[in-house]
Amino acid sequence: MKTLLNYIGGELCPPISGNYLDNYEPATGKVYGALPDSDAEDVERAVRAALSARNAWSGSEPAFRFQKLNAIAAKIRENLSELAGAEARDSGKPLHMATSVDIPRAAANFEFFATAALHFASESHPMGQTAVNYTLRQPVGIAGCISPWNLPLYLFTWKIAPALAAGNCVVAKPSELTPQTAFMLSEICREAELPPGVLNIVHGLGSKVGAAIVRHPAVPCISFTGGTATGAEIARVAAPMFKKLSLELGGKNPNIVFADCDYPNALETTLRSSFNNQGQICLCGSRVLIEKSLYPRFRDELVALTQSLQQGDPQLPETRQGAVVSREHQEKILRYIALAQEEGGTVLCGGEAFRPEGRCAEGWFVAPTIIEGLPQACRTNREEIFGPVITLQPFESEAEALAIANDTPYGLAAMVWTSDLSRAHRLAAELQAGIVWINCWMLRDLRTPFGGMKHSGVGREGGVEALRFFTEPKNVCVKY
Ligand code: NAD
Repeated sequence: MKTLLNYIGGELCPPISGNYLDNYEPATGKVYGALPDSDAEDVERAVRAALSARNAWSGSEPAFRFQKLNAIAAKIRENLSELAGAEARDSGKPLHMATSVDIPRAAANFEFFATAALHFASESHPMGQTAVNYTLRQPVGIAGCISPWNLPLYLFTWKIAPALAAGNCVVAKPSELTPQTAFMLSEICREAELPPGVLNIVHGLGSKVGAAIVRHPAVPCISFTGGTATGAEIARVAAPMFKKLSLELGGKNPNIVFADCDYPNALETTLRSSFNNQGQICLCGSRVLIEKSLYPRFRDELVALTQSLQQGDPQLPETRQGAVVSREHQEKILRYIALAQEEGGTVLCGGEAFRPEGRCAEGWFVAPTIIEGLPQACRTNREEIFGPVITLQPFESEAEALAIANDTPYGLAAMVWTSDLSRAHRLAAELQAGIVWINCWMLRDLRTPFGGMKHSGVGREGGVEALRFFTEPKNVCVKY
């Protein structure tokens, strides 16, 4: 049994209370470690460590920050297989995905923002012969970074790296469900000789550690990724304190397939965009809208491919469908499948818990599930399930597809499959989503802004937007 520690002021330390939480392996349903059940006192200690490190780090040369962030990235790459194994065990995701997506992307986040630190510049506005205005972009000071369990190290580093690159010290909290790779990151930071206090990682519950970070008066900026209800609670606390907020929240993404699409590509990518990471990616397409003339063929072939997905022990290299993250989450997904049937839906495949043989027999698995026959207005088609469950809906026209696609409170991502260029651009402009993928999925240049519309969030991360978020712009006007 491994016992994790907080990372505060450069040291690995136990929680002040001495209390710990169980760390479960979703694939077996068994406890395999413990993590600090930290509280406001540990957060206070982390904030004090960050305050002590703040001036030296924010005043350091960008080249120094570049070197430190790159050293962390290199160590992530060196330890890729250990990190991927730990992430698969901690979250239930297939080792294949942790190895090919999550951990390389965590390293890429540090590499990208290391370089960004070198190239970050601000604007100047000359007023003819009268004056020059320039914008000083200064670090906010201490950034609070709170992340979810679905892409644990990937999303944790997506916040931490730009905050550090912009010259801030960070107090960060990973999800209590998946703390292992964040702990390994703290060991990596020590090996990379990141100055003490620059990054502090406090483990524990959202209601204790997360809430204490959000309400701490010395943390003026919060970057949060997680559920929409949690985002609303964070905004409720942080807004009256006038904190800068970036909220990356839930989604109910439409995946629109027209009859003129590149069929094999649309079908194969729809399989991935529906069920990768057991559907637990905020960018998965959970509502597949299919043009009526293509509907029967696409449905039947998608069902057949889904039934052939290799489910089971996430640690086996051939597994493509692992466990969902917790028993509570498994129960929630199964409740939604039952609700879909009450709402008149027909389950075409899956629809139940899956029980592998051997060491994973008690694990939390849900068979990939496809449901048809539901109206758009029902709860199943409007609420985020965040599991391996998709619905299929036929449409007759582009206008109808657009209306269905936009008919949710969310606006995170959308996919369009068509070979009609004009239609692709028209829909890209009209879909209410922070990112629209035309004939692809999960392809993105890290320089682009990333975030959601409507209830999917506030603010944008990625590229220069992220560095700007973690800085305070100050305009200086100098008269000649
Ligand atoms: P969650 O909201 O339950 O938890 C996210 C994090 O917030 C965790 O670290 C949790 O401990 C913490 N937290 C909980 N209550 C808090 C509080 N009151 N104050 C401060 N922190 C608190 O979300 P989750 O279940 O971990 O993640 C799944 C959700 O995340 C889904 O809705 C998914 O769509 C969303 N998500 C969004 C994106 C995006 O980029 N938009 C990416 C990944 C996941």
